[in-house]
Amino acid sequence: MNGEVPFSLETFTRPIYTEGADVPTIVHENGHQWWGENVSIKRWRDICLTECFASYSVWLWDESRRADLDDRYRSGVDPDGEDFFNAPLYDMGPGNEFEFEGVYLKGTYFLHALRAKLGDDAFFSAMRQIQREYAGGNMSMLELREGLEAKTGTDLTSFWQEWVLDTGRPSDANLFPGDL
Ligand SMILES: [Zn+2]
Repeated sequence: MNGEVPFSLETFTRPIYTEGADVPTIVHENGHQWWGENVSIKRWRDICLTECFASYSVWLWDESRRADLDDRYRSGVDPDGEDFFNAPLYDMGPGNEFEFEGVYLKGTYFLHALRAKLGDDAFFSAMRQIQREYAGGNMSMLELREGLEAKTGTDLTSFWQEWVLDTGRPSDANLFPGDL
């Protein structure tokens, strides 16, 4: 791409990059081939289904290069550090869907906490099943929660409320689930 468009975009089967796109950008846009393209959102309020996952795929890439994501997570949610918890992940209103602090930043932490809440095996297995079941279709954040609960047998009511529906810092139980 010759740089006429000022951002990279994930367009299905063939992401388009700006000049000088870095590795995290390439990983992000390829993550969208599953979240955003193979499974798309139902309404704009469900944008986390695409951007939270594409953003978290960069963490998974880093993990494959031996980054310690639990350490990164714990320092990122330190009360003295960056405060992105007031950014909404759901129903953020027209024009506010793509705020960096929200689905890109808080969304990454949300998915790492969700993975810890469910455990690695259940998290990755459920996500693969959802990708198969919803391939070529649309999904809402509520359907995602229901699908994960059905596949893992884990009640996500309070977790979803504090991370997705509410803003503000989640309770310690939902901020540090599982081994976090
Ligand atoms: Zn994206």
